[in-house]
Parts: sequence; C-alpha cells; structure tokens
Amino acid sequence: MSFEPPGTPGEVVPLRLPRPAELFARRARRFRELVPGNPMGDFLDALADVASAQGTALGAVPPGAPDREPAGGTPLRASTHVRDPAWRAGLASIVGSLRSRSWPTPAAEALRRLATAAPAELESLADGVLRGEPAATDLAAAPFVGAALQVYFTSLASALSATGLARSEQGCPVCGSPPVAGVVLGDDRLRYLCCSLCGSDWNLTRIQCWSCRSTGGIRYLAVAGDPGGVKAELCSDCGAYVKLFYLEKMPAAEPLADDVASLTLDLLAAQEGWGRSGVNLFLLGGAEG
Ligand SMILES: [Zn+2]
Ligand SMILES: [Zn+2]
Repeated sequence: MSFEPPGTPGEVVPLRLPRPAELFARRARRFRELVPGNPMGDFLDALADVASAQGTALGAVPPGAPDREPAGGTPLRASTHVRDPAWRAGLASIVGSLRSRSWPTPAAEALRRLATAAPAELESLADGVLRGEPAATDLAAAPFVGAALQVYFTSLASALSATGLARSEQGCPVCGSPPVAGVVLGDDRLRYLCCSLCGSDWNLTRIQCWSCRSTGGIRYLAVAGDPGGVKAELCSDCGAYVKLFYLEKMPAAEPLADDVASLTLDLLAAQEGWGRSGVNLFLLGGAEG
C-alpha cells in the first residue's frame, strides 16, 4: 500500500485495507528497482515477475463479497477460513504467466507440478503454506502457492469495510497472519505492520513487540554502514525480531520486496541468536535455488 498521511492531521488510521491492483503493481516495480547491484538480482527479478503475475491473476479471482464470514474480529482468519475454489483459478493464472520465463530447475519443476496437480493436492499445499510449514517436498512450490493465496486473500480483504474491525491482539486484524515487516512513517513516526498474506496494514504503537506485546527489552539492530532505512526490532522477552523500514530514509520501500532484498540483516540477526517473527511467503521455499 501507499502510506500517504491520513486525511485529518493527528488522526491515526488503525487499519488500512489493501488496494490489490495497486499493491501488486507497486511490488513488481519495487522488486525491479532493487535488482541493480543486489547480489540476489536474478532472484529479485524473478519475484518482480511473480508480483506482475499476481496483478494479472486478480482478474481470475472474483472480488470477494465474503458475506458468509462472521462479523467482528478477524473476518478472514486464514487458519479457519473455508477457501473458495477461485483461489486455484488465481494459481492457474500465475503458473500460466510464469512458465514462459526461465527458472532454476526446482522452481521450473514446481511450476510443472502446479500446472497439473489435482485440486486436493493444491489444497493440501495451501494448508501447509498457511501454517507456515510446507512439507520438505513442497518447498519449491510454496512461493507460487503463497503468491496465489495472497491474490485471493488480498482480493477478499479489499471488499471488506474497515469500520467495525476490531484492533487485533496479535497478527493481522483481517486474517490473523503475521506481518512480513513494518514501516515507520516519516513525519508522524507512526508504525504500521504489513500483513504477509492479505496486504492489510495495521497500526501498532512503536517500541512494542507485535508478537508477545512486550514493551520492555526492545532494541534495534542494523547492518553496519547502513544509512538507517531498515532496522530489526529485537524483543528480548521472546527472542524474536521484525524488520522495520523507515520511510523517511527509504521512501520507496515496499515491505515484502525490501524484506527479500535485505537478507543481510536477517543473517546478522540470526548470527546474534534472534529468531524471525515476520513471515515472507516468497521465502518459505526454494524458488531462489
Ligand atoms: Zn492479513
Ligand atoms: Zn516479543
């Protein structure tokens, strides 16, 4: 999403629902911007194509009117939501768009598999991705399945009304998923967490662990020499971190794309013993292999 300041100065918008076409176009553009000079340039270029394919796939997934969903909190909870088969039409569109480009062997084989798999197999793949634990044999397919689930959930989320959605105690107020990362706005220093699945953004007070809600023992880690556009927010209570992008320093940052492009910070955090609490569906598996 874009992060223009809210209409009324001083007003904090608690939840921003996604605008799917804009989201996937912006993500594709950002992946392409990040390619030059990045050691993972080929991978970022491939993910730009995945994001473009997601934009195209929106046409295959009817914008949802999830009227059978319960009212109130977490209306599209990913762990219990009964998926409409339309998500598989989105997957077929993504696979069709992507098979024409060249891929490392595991990803090419995964695309072949996804093009012919039976519905039951695809549903089982989707369940594994949504649990964040795809089977070892499904790793190469996981990012493509994740991409299709993002299209589906983002499309449904965009049809909701933000009013009446409760603030979430943990995770996305719309679908209950963990964030991919967060952004800190330049002028008013508001912090939004960005859903890894449905593309919604929710406000959370800064200097607070989104995962365990601890406010003590929070500190920040950055790669030496980095100009300060991205930091890991470390929580010593639960030992986890989430990345924050500071839009004042990095106005073009897009949380999912910039998360992939800043893996050096993950390596540094891992070396120091911190676990990642953010989830990036493009990094669940082996597409980069
Ligand atoms: Zn969500
Ligand atoms: Zn914590």
